[in-house]
Amino acid sequence: MTEGPKKLSPKERMAIPRAKMPEQNPDLRAQNFNEVPLGLTPEMAMKEALRCLHCRTEPCVKGCPVNVPIPQFIAKVVEGKFAEAVRLIKKVNVLPAVCGRVCPQEVQCEGNCTLFKKYGGVSIGALERFVADYERENNLVEIPPKPKPTGKKVAVIGSGPSGLTVAGDLIQLGHEVTVFEALHEPGGVLIYGIPEFRLPKDIVMFEVGNLEKQGVKFELNTVVGMSVTIDELLEEGYDAIYIGVGAGLPWFLRIEGEELNGVYSADE
Ligand SMILES: Cc1cc2nc3c(=O)[nH]c(=O)nc-3n(C[C@H](O)[C@H](O)[C@H](O)COP(=O)(O)OP(=O)(O)OC[C@H]3O[C@@H](n4cnc5c(N)ncnc54)[C@H](O)[C@@H]3O)c2cc1C
Repeated sequence: MTEGPKKLSPKERMAIPRAKMPEQNPDLRAQNFNEVPLGLTPEMAMKEALRCLHCRTEPCVKGCPVNVPIPQFIAKVVEGKFAEAVRLIKKVNVLPAVCGRVCPQEVQCEGNCTLFKKYGGVSIGALERFVADYERENNLVEIPPKPKPTGKKVAVIGSGPSGLTVAGDLIQLGHEVTVFEALHEPGGVLIYGIPEFRLPKDIVMFEVGNLEKQGVKFELNTVVGMSVTIDELLEEGYDAIYIGVGAGLPWFLRIEGEELNGVYSADE
């Protein structure tokens, strides 16, 4: 548990209204595909961070699938130490700029926030996005030093968020990592599913670039099972294989008429 800033009482923190992220003007956004929410300013982020009550039981962390140290990173935001804040997040999550944008925070961290029902939860996603963007836009991203090599090779099949996360974690453990991707670009649904106005592709590609700088190799246009099989990868000397191929194929209901023109699966 973090102590958090002591200057404000819980009552004073609860009196701070939840930050509203600025958005593109509707007249403008009707004419482009750019991201709609524009992100918090440093001042807005620091004020929003003051709303955190630093609860002893950390319900927000329990609501996060990867247990991001939320109160601790928020305490850094209060102090204006944005790069330190994002580095805390990156210890457990290699994609904070992505998760800050597209995670369903309202049912995870923010939905579990003590303030959620009465005051609106602390805008944890917006703060996560802010510190990640701040780090990237101010060229403060630090590529972690190369760990001692283990001599082990891992093949990761699929470069969606699952494959990218595994690749990032394994390279930091000192393994040699190659990601095999069927399509011509890495990123999975982050690239070809989630639209630009919700998650800009530049942000995904920036994270992929950081993984490359750490030593992760990407083999694109490679359908594992066709271009190369898992047995062949094992014969090539891979010690382990992670299969993160997503759920790209539709399940049809086998009902009459589903093959007719004009009937689409959900992804289409
Ligand atoms: C339109 C849409 C919008 C969404 N919006 C959100 C959102 O806002 N928030 C949210 O939290 N979630 C959202 N999701 C869900 C989220 O995108 C998925 O949960 C997530 O992408 C799953 O990640 P993944 O890495 O498991 O799979 P994927 O992202 O599907 O990646 C799998 C990758 O594996 C590759 N692959 C498949 N087979 C092979 C093979 N044989 N060889 C090599 N590569 C292969 C694929 O080409 C793909 O790149 C959305 C999903 C869709 C479809």
